[in-house]
Amino acid sequence: MNPDPDYSAAYVVLHTDEGMEGHGFCFTIGRGNEVCVAAIEAYAPLVEGTDLDLGDLGGFARRLLHDSQLRWLGPEKGAVHMAAAAIINAAFDLAGKIAGKPVWRLLAEMTPEQIVDLADWRYLTDALTPDRALDLLREAVPGRAARTADLLERGYPAYTTTPGWLGYTDDKLGRLAREAVADGFTQIKLKVGADLDDDVRRLRLAREAVGPDVRIAVDANQRWDVAPAIEWMEALKPFDPYWIEEPTSPDDVLGHAAIRRGVSPVKVATGEHIANRVIVKQMLQAEALDVLQIDACRVAGVTENVAILLLAAAFGVPVCPHAGGVGLCEAVQHLSMFDYVAVSGSTENRVIEYVDHLHEHFEDPVRMSRGHYSAPAAPGMSTQMKAASLAAYAHPHGEVWRS
Ligand SMILES: [Mg+2]
Repeated sequence: MNPDPDYSAAYVVLHTDEGMEGHGFCFTIGRGNEVCVAAIEAYAPLVEGTDLDLGDLGGFARRLLHDSQLRWLGPEKGAVHMAAAAIINAAFDLAGKIAGKPVWRLLAEMTPEQIVDLADWRYLTDALTPDRALDLLREAVPGRAARTADLLERGYPAYTTTPGWLGYTDDKLGRLAREAVADGFTQIKLKVGADLDDDVRRLRLAREAVGPDVRIAVDANQRWDVAPAIEWMEALKPFDPYWIEEPTSPDDVLGHAAIRRGVSPVKVATGEHIANRVIVKQMLQAEALDVLQIDACRVAGVTENVAILLLAAAFGVPVCPHAGGVGLCEAVQHLSMFDYVAVSGSTENRVIEYVDHLHEHFEDPVRMSRGHYSAPAAPGMSTQMKAASLAAYAHPHGEVWRS
C-alpha cells in the first residue's frame, strides 16, 4: 500500500525554436522522484536539438524506447519507462498546442492508419495485428461525429475515490459517500486490505449510505497473495463490491487470473502499475481481468496507451483509467475521450477515476459536471502546471521546500 505519499512529479518542458512549449511529467509519491529526473536527463540527448516531426510521433516514441543502451534499464519498465512517458506526453501536449486542439481531439481526428502508426507493435502481433486494429478503427469512423457531439454535451463518466481513504472516521466516510451520490456519481471506491473487521464495517456503512444502486469498488493496492485475496473478498461479498482493484502484484498474470475465478461475480480491475503493453497483452490473453486501468504516465505515454486501448477494444474489455496523483486526471481524460470517439466507441461500464486533489496547480484543470468529466477545449494535454506552482514547488530551491 501507499501509506505516506508525498505527491511529486518529474516534470519535462520541451521548447521549440518558435517559442512553443510542451509539458509532461511522471507522477511519483516522493523518494525516488530524483531517479525519474535522472532518467529523463539520460534521454535528453535523443531529444534536444532534434526535429520533431508532428506527423510521426510514433517514430519519436520508438526512437526513445528502442535506444539500445537505455533499454538495458528496463526494458520498457520502471523509472526509465516513466521518464519516457513524461517526454512522450510532453511531445503530445506540444503537438496539441501547435494544432490548436486538445489531445483527445487531435487523436480522434487522425485516420485509422495514423493511429495504428502511433503504436509500437513489437511483441503484440500474436494477440492483435495492425491489420485487425485498422479494421476496429475503421468500423468506428462512421460514428465519430455523433460520439464527439455526445461527449461535448454529456462529458465522460467518472467515479470518485474521495470517500474511501483509509483513516477516515466512519462519520466522514458516510458523509462523503452521500455527498458523492448527491454530486451525481454512480460509483465510489473504498481502500481495503489493512484490517478485515474494519473493511467489513466500512463497506457496510458505505453500502447503507449510497443504497443498492450505486457501485462500490474496492482497492487493495497490491496487498495480498492469491489465496488471502479470495478469502478477504468472500467476507466483503455481502455488501456487493463491484470490483476488486490491484488485489496482488501487478506482474502476476496467473495470480490475477486465479483471483478472478475465485472472486466472481466480483470483477477484477488492475493496470495502474502494469509496466507495459506486453503485460497488458498477457492479462487479456489469460482472462486475468475484467476492467483495465490504464495510467497516463507509467507506460510510455500516449503512444503505448494507444496500443493498450486497441488491445482492450479487441478483447472487449472496458478501460477505466487510474487517476488522482499529480495531474493524472488531467492527462488521462484525453485517452478515454479518444477511446470513446475513435476506438471502443462506448462508455458502457467505463468510468475515469476522479480524485479532488491538486487540480488548482494546473492551467487547464479538469472540470466535473454531474459525475462526468467535461471534455477539455484548450489545446494540448492539460498537463501544464501553473508557472507559480512550478516555481514554488521546484525541488530543492522552491519556496515550499525552503520553508
Ligand atoms: Mg488504485
